[in-house]
Amino acid sequence: MGKVLVVGAGGVAHAAVHKIAMNPDIFTEITLASRTVAKCHAIAKSVKERFGVEIATVELDAMDVVQTVDLIRETGAELLVNLALPYQDLRLMDACLEAGCNYLDTANYEPEDEAKFEYHWQWAYQERFEEQGLTAILGSGFDPGVTSVFATWLKKHKLDTIRQIDILDANGGQNDQAFATNFNPEINLREVLAEARHWENGAWQPTPPMTRKVEFDFPGIGPKNMYLMYHEELESLSTHFPEIERARFWMTFGDAYITHAKVLENVGMTRIDPVMHQGVEIIPIQFLKTLLPDPGDLAGETKGKACIGDIATGEAKDGSGEKTFYIYNICDHEECFREVGSQAVSYTTGVPAMIGAAQVLKGIWNSPGVWNMEQLDPDDFMDMLNAQGLPWQVEELDGPVAF
Ligand code: NDP
Repeated sequence: MGKVLVVGAGGVAHAAVHKIAMNPDIFTEITLASRTVAKCHAIAKSVKERFGVEIATVELDAMDVVQTVDLIRETGAELLVNLALPYQDLRLMDACLEAGCNYLDTANYEPEDEAKFEYHWQWAYQERFEEQGLTAILGSGFDPGVTSVFATWLKKHKLDTIRQIDILDANGGQNDQAFATNFNPEINLREVLAEARHWENGAWQPTPPMTRKVEFDFPGIGPKNMYLMYHEELESLSTHFPEIERARFWMTFGDAYITHAKVLENVGMTRIDPVMHQGVEIIPIQFLKTLLPDPGDLAGETKGKACIGDIATGEAKDGSGEKTFYIYNICDHEECFREVGSQAVSYTTGVPAMIGAAQVLKGIWNSPGVWNMEQLDPDDFMDMLNAQGLPWQVEELDGPVAF
């Protein structure tokens, strides 16, 4: 159905490109471009060995708009899938507008010198995409991404309104590392150490980072501590579903992760401003990223499951009063590794990136403009989750969450 250009060749791209190659009826030609072309070659080699599909590889600096425009034109791509870092989002959207290409990403734009997760920079592109007849899909990973599609599916099929929503992200994966993040360490630590915020009664309620802890019994995993955090879909969900009274995001962390993150923060290793080191300017968090394990490399040694989902409460469609539903996916690290050579966090992000891309190329999500996932029809996306390795379940709970 269409040609795709994937930008970025990290852990998420590894999973996404394998799944794209597994769907040749939708993705007719694949080009993979990134800063370090050797990483593109490694992904292309793995795809060729597993599925016999050829992928073109190119070196690209995604901050260079002219270079990206030329590449889009050369490849004839109808869709650019941005799996690089949030810092590249606006440059890649500019390139898509210039070259006449649709756009999709998995994380909202963030300025490099400020850990600020807000959509307004990307929402400002709405008119330009609309005028050019192009579609931009924001946040097509799991969270953000599937968590928003889950909310829309509940609103389409189970609940007339959503009064409160909690998004719960558990990673029960274990490996032999003393400290490792499950996606890009720099982006992960910026997110985790930022002030926690949730939406309640029309305003953002701040909480100091990693201080609000609750134990929850996760399906497929068991009891784990989860912490209140800010996450970007809280902004888009509370904007697009204005009836939401309370929206919160929770993520599990083990005690060892929290201790390491706090120590690294206390000694200044997570600073994002430049410091002079022996006459050379360095950014401590970028140096730290160099030292930490590459999450993509941990795929073979990670065991256990991840479980991500939404608990939503609102008025039932059948007129039976207020109901609460829990909708979630359970994903096994070792099964992901067997299928595509990825760990579950890369897989749960890469598969929805492929499915979002498929929605655009199938013509289901091709309305001109800039869209968050909860604004789009969920049904085919939900069917594809079941068919493409991320099956979901929905169950009714006795009542709203008590935490
Ligand atoms: P990685 O660090 O593993 O990969 C990022 C890739 O982008 C690397 O190949 C890197 O190149 C490339 N890159 C960085 N800068 C440039 C540039 N200027 N030009 C071209 N390529 C560049 O990250 P992950 O795969 O872990 O994460 C990818 C994205 O997915 C991130 O934005 C992350 O926030 C998002 N994400 C979203 C989730 C969701 O559920 N929505 C969950 C997890 C992640 P190089 O190899 O040279 O460094």
